[in-house]
Amino acid sequence: MIGVTVLGATGSIGVSTLDVLARHPDRFRAVALTANTDAERLAEQCRRHRPQYAVMVDPEAAQRLGELLADMPERPEILTGVEGLEQVSALPEVGYVMAAIVGAAGLRPTLAAAHAGKRVLLANKESLVVAGALLMQAVADSGAELLPIDSEHNAIFQCLPPNFSDGLDRVGVRRILLTASGGPFRDWPLERLTSVTPEQACAHPTWDMGRKISVDSATMMNKGLEVIEACWLFGTDTDHVQVVVHPQSVIHSLVQYDDGSVLAQLGNPDMRTPIAHAMGWPERIDSGVTPLDLFAVARLDFQEPDFARFPCLRLAFESARAGGTAPAVLNAANEIAVAAFLDRRIDFPGIAAVVEGTLEALPRESVEGQGLEFLLDVDRRARAQAEHLVQARAG
Ligand code: NAD
Ligand code: MG
Repeated sequence: MIGVTVLGATGSIGVSTLDVLARHPDRFRAVALTANTDAERLAEQCRRHRPQYAVMVDPEAAQRLGELLADMPERPEILTGVEGLEQVSALPEVGYVMAAIVGAAGLRPTLAAAHAGKRVLLANKESLVVAGALLMQAVADSGAELLPIDSEHNAIFQCLPPNFSDGLDRVGVRRILLTASGGPFRDWPLERLTSVTPEQACAHPTWDMGRKISVDSATMMNKGLEVIEACWLFGTDTDHVQVVVHPQSVIHSLVQYDDGSVLAQLGNPDMRTPIAHAMGWPERIDSGVTPLDLFAVARLDFQEPDFARFPCLRLAFESARAGGTAPAVLNAANEIAVAAFLDRRIDFPGIAAVVEGTLEALPRESVEGQGLEFLLDVDRRARAQAEHLVQARAG
């Protein structure tokens, strides 16, 4: 029986994780569930999955959770703050930690799970973008397992040989082909993008996801973050990662080998497949996902990405190549800009403008020999700069 902590249990990935977990009561049990502020949803999840711990990051919401669960027999111990998240990520009775908090807020608990040698099921790509070197080092030092949940990276993992960490060139891999849906505005006239509303940006054509990643998909910043994520996970560089726009989201990514072979992983776009894959690995377990019907799909299309339409994708490639603090600055500025867009303070093209302005204002620094506190300080400085640019645009 494997104990599981679900960080970000109330989110889109968290809910899918609990769905998979509940299909295998003989294999998994929920030890800890965490959320930021949504006490009502976490209370429901606690009644259903009976964890030993529940973490509400927000102290007032933690109090509300206590009230909501007052009459529950064997109710979970309620913890709060980032310390609570770190604590439940390193519990001895926990084998697997699902890292499904959105944004750089997921970094500390994800690192705690890696340091504690857990199987880390990584949905929180932002933690690799901000602190890739630190996270990969923590995994190597502790013997933790890092399994990708992001559908593209999970697909790539499935298409690579088991010894891929020897180096992609040594196992005959020429390039990784990272598929992208292109989001809802792939074919919109450019001049209409200034009128995009948060509702339109969040209505993704193929995936049902949280609001931040939905906006990231619409700007294609999501693909940019995923390029950086792929470089860390698979020990490669941007020259070996090609973005392929594939609107149907049926092929979740591909690996091209030296002999001309291209291996792909296909399936219906439902995150329970990569979640079940990573939770069951190396075995295959039921996910509840409807089997793929190729006759219903009928055709698969591919296009080159348009870097002029999607400046966020260009900025992410540039940051990946620059390295050092650039990806952390990119991520922090993007989090501020996306929140401002969702609050209707800036328009859709303003997101890329704020990110670009922040990257220009904070020149790249080396991260060589630097620890977590340095990166968190870079993150804070980039957020302040981005907020300043948002205010200037919001006028
Ligand atoms: P979501 O917004 O639906 O859920 C986010 C979760 O994080 C919630 O449980 C929330 O309570 C928690 N949270 C938010 N802010 C927090 C904070 N400051 N401290 C602690 N907890 C906090 O997001 P999501 O769509 O489930 O995405 C989660 C992560 O998974 C993101 O990094 C995203 O990029 C990645 N991801 C998501 C999908 C998807 O299909 N949704 C696919 C691939 C990768
Ligand atoms: Mg993805």
